[in-house]
Amino acid sequence: MPELPEVETVVRDLRPLVVGRTIAAVRHGKKKLRRPWDPAWNAIVAGCRVEAVRRRGKWIVIELAGRAGSVSDRRETGNPPVAHAPGSPRLVVHLGMSGQFTAVDPAEPPPDHLHLVLDLGGRELRLRDPRRFGSATYFPDDAAVEAFFAEAGLGPEPFGLDPDRFRRAVRRSGRTLKAILLDQTVVAGVGNIYADEACFAARLHPRRKGKSLTGAEADRLREAVEAVLTRAVELRGSTIRDYVGGSGLRGGFQNVLAVYGRAGEPCGVCATPIGCVRLSGRASHYCPKCQRGGVRIRDSGVRGRPTPRGRPKPRRAPRSAPKPES
Ligand SMILES: [Zn+2]
Repeated sequence: MPELPEVETVVRDLRPLVVGRTIAAVRHGKKKLRRPWDPAWNAIVAGCRVEAVRRRGKWIVIELAGRAGSVSDRRETGNPPVAHAPGSPRLVVHLGMSGQFTAVDPAEPPPDHLHLVLDLGGRELRLRDPRRFGSATYFPDDAAVEAFFAEAGLGPEPFGLDPDRFRRAVRRSGRTLKAILLDQTVVAGVGNIYADEACFAARLHPRRKGKSLTGAEADRLREAVEAVLTRAVELRGSTIRDYVGGSGLRGGFQNVLAVYGRAGEPCGVCATPIGCVRLSGRASHYCPKCQRGGVRIRDSGVRGRPTPRGRPKPRRAPRSAPKPES
């Protein structure tokens, strides 16, 4: 699942390929994404210029400007008017579990599972998502985007976190470190891979309770989150399954993972086999020796279990009403 480094890589790849271009036309697939694309948005977005591409947590925000949703467009499509402030529409994209958001030559044959195509005149911005947990959503302006993020409880970015705030959030929690790091209200952008890697880098067992940490340990965890994510961005993220950057190139961090997906393999520091426990419903990888973290941890014989790479995939997108992805 794309986490912050993967999404950041997509954004950095897309910027030089799409900024300054005008959306000539929009095409969408028939199958529903987690938050379905409303066909009424096609006419609103067409004619807009791509001003900027940025990331917030695991979300991609495409800033548009220009001829946004003129009255005549609405009449032509027969769709109900969409309230917006002209001139600053936004597209907010989430890659879900398997989303690929790439800018390609229109001559490239369209792949399967293609859900949205923005025709940029000589280049196409394509959203492909085999598992359909991703989404692309129109917002009339930045205020609407921010309200959406606030509703989703999106917390601070992991770079330059306030040490006091992070310490408090961790040390007041009775949850495991794994659960705390996955909580997007504490820090935005961390998922399963980088939560495991950050705990290893901080030499803290992911099953430790937040309230068991000293202030120094909480600081170590915060610094580890930032360091691991920074390194992963440098390496273009991790390609575990489907992920590719905005230019279609794969990531490289999967080659330097210390614990994630390495159950049973030797720890790079002490050669102890990497263990795996289920925490917050997620396979969590750790070194039993390097990450004791000052407390006695009883492991229940689940070391060496299959890693997430081997788990079966859900067969279809969720049917329930879409809720904001984290
Ligand atoms: Zn070790």
